[in-house]
Amino acid sequence: MRLEVEGLEVAYGPVRALHGVSLWVDPGEIVAVIGANGAGKSTLLRAISGLLRPRAGRIWFDGQEITGWPPERIVARGLVHIPERRQLFASMSVEDNLRLGAYLRLRRGERKGVEEDLERVYEIFPRLKERRRQLAGTLSGGEQQMLAIGRGLMARPRMLLLDEPSLGLAPLLVRELFRIIVALREQGLTLLLVEQNARQALRVADRAYVMETGRIVREGPAAALLKDPALQVAYLGGPAPCRIPEPPSAEVLSYARLTRAAAPGDATVGEHGNRGDDAGG
Ligand code: ATP
Repeated sequence: MRLEVEGLEVAYGPVRALHGVSLWVDPGEIVAVIGANGAGKSTLLRAISGLLRPRAGRIWFDGQEITGWPPERIVARGLVHIPERRQLFASMSVEDNLRLGAYLRLRRGERKGVEEDLERVYEIFPRLKERRRQLAGTLSGGEQQMLAIGRGLMARPRMLLLDEPSLGLAPLLVRELFRIIVALREQGLTLLLVEQNARQALRVADRAYVMETGRIVREGPAAALLKDPALQVAYLGGPAPCRIPEPPSAEVLSYARLTRAAAPGDATVGEHGNRGDDAGG
């Protein structure tokens, strides 16, 4: 189930998006690809899953060259792409969207296996079970992301290509999502994960690649990249996690009130601002 990409070149007309990208993912690994907007991360996943035809380079999956294969054939081999924009069918129910993820299997007559997998997806995402009859377009952003992953799982993948799964999710849901990613690996899946949330991605990944303007510029164990000072500045929001200042304690507040009462002319900037607002009304 190893994925190997060698010298991949992709262009959109005259715009070259990938310049000789090479990487590999071993069975059971979580490998992250991080990089700024426009670095070529989504293009890389689209080329691997057959949605874009590379100008040059080769791709192997599970011991077989898959370069130039149509997407359905690649999915049928167990390599499943979950795109960034989720691409759900908004006017269909949650359950119908899930079944669509298994359409190649249903065509082969695997009805029983598909029903079993539906239950498995509902175990991983109980929220989807509660909302199985709801239209996909009315789900929250986080629920839609869960549905997109669930639909990918219905194809019975051996490897998932996940494009920006945390995009637009609240921090609590982001944590839940990364917990699910780790759980999927524990169930035997291999994952190639594209993320702008570099810190979280590096925390769950075994290895990672850093992309800049269509090229891989760094690679290595995720734990080492997480500690790399250059990466911390460029992608991880500075050397140390940003500390939110503690709110002042009750004692400090009451002391401030007392001293203000003693010197009434010494108002704070905020109070001046508020007065200004009131004056305008
Ligand atoms: P993001 O994190 O913003 O999604 P990305 O790293 O995934 O960025 P890509 O979407 O792969 O980057 O884009 C790589 C380059 O290819 C960018 O310069 C982008 O403008 C260009 N590009 C992507 N899709 C197209 C397209 N359909 N037509 C023309 N250019 C494109």
